[in-house]
Amino acid sequence: AAKLQGRNTWQWYQGKGTEDTSEQVLMRHDLHAALRDNQFELYYQPVVEAVNGRIRSVEALVRWHHPTQGLVSPGDFIPIAEQTGQIIPLGRWVLRQACQRLAELRAKGERVCPVAVNISSLQFRRDGFLDEVQAILDETGLPPELLELEMTESILLGGAEQAIEMIDTLRGMHITVAIDDFGTGFSSLSYLRDLPIHKIKLDRAFIRDILTNHRNAAIVQGIITMAHHMDLVVVAEGIETRAQQEDLVRRGCDLLQGFLFARPMPLEALLTLPDTLPAVTVPP
Ligand code: C2E
Ligand code: MG
Ligand code: MG
Ligand code: MG
Repeated sequence: AAKLQGRNTWQWYQGKGTEDTSEQVLMRHDLHAALRDNQFELYYQPVVEAVNGRIRSVEALVRWHHPTQGLVSPGDFIPIAEQTGQIIPLGRWVLRQACQRLAELRAKGERVCPVAVNISSLQFRRDGFLDEVQAILDETGLPPELLELEMTESILLGGAEQAIEMIDTLRGMHITVAIDDFGTGFSSLSYLRDLPIHKIKLDRAFIRDILTNHRNAAIVQGIITMAHHMDLVVVAEGIETRAQQEDLVRRGCDLLQGFLFARPMPLEALLTLPDTLPAVTVPP
């Protein structure tokens, strides 16, 4: 029926992409109960200094302990939560939980590093987002220097002017802002000039075949060089081999994140890690 609206309409594409499988219908219903019943847990993955493996921050990555499906990955439920609007309460829970846990550790005298939280563009663009961030910092007592927010280029879709202003405000609050999955978006590079961010995270797609695809490697090198000229810190995601690490060190990449150093893990496991992570070969 959607086809009748014309082949090239937005509805046609949207309709095609969002046809519900019964699994998605179930999940939509379950998400509601999940928030109520506390079925979410934050895992944490270290981000290390490229040259020496020293842990510099951790990224919070949400997991869902589904009553019948077991551990569900965010790739399977974040898009649904975005469709239903449940990303708003879920995103708020993630932010509060990450801040609370870190503030508690700090209060206990543990040595802590900043935590990075992924923010959906829907969450970012919703009225009151900045107030919500401030309220969570106030409530948990976490110093803003210990919070990083990761957002994708899609925050610009709702109006670049407003996104720039909001990031400026976050910067003024001493919160670090990173652009996630950098290079996979639709935007022109010129937006980088105006966005007052601190960091870019190179998407795993660029890293995967960096050793074999010289055009890919050229893009990565170009991004690193450009970012450094703008005083931005560069993180590469999805590092799985020592050869990738060495290549990125040679190209001047600042920070690395990937299974080579550590997988995302529960907080208890994170607390047992040494300050510096040795590179370990990933079993295939
Ligand atoms: P992301 O923010 O780009 O996070 C990095 C993803 O890459 C994580 O997947 C991580 O487990 C995975 N990864 C890290 N190192 C490696 C590696 O060496 N090899 C491979 N193959 N994968 C690696 P995860 O945890 O499944 O999360 C997927 C995406 O879901 C995230 O991508 C992020 O966009 C989203 N997400 C996760 N947690 C949240 C959240 O709390 N809120 C929102 N809005 N989105 C979230
Ligand atoms: Mg991220
Ligand atoms: Mg990413
Ligand atoms: Mg990603």
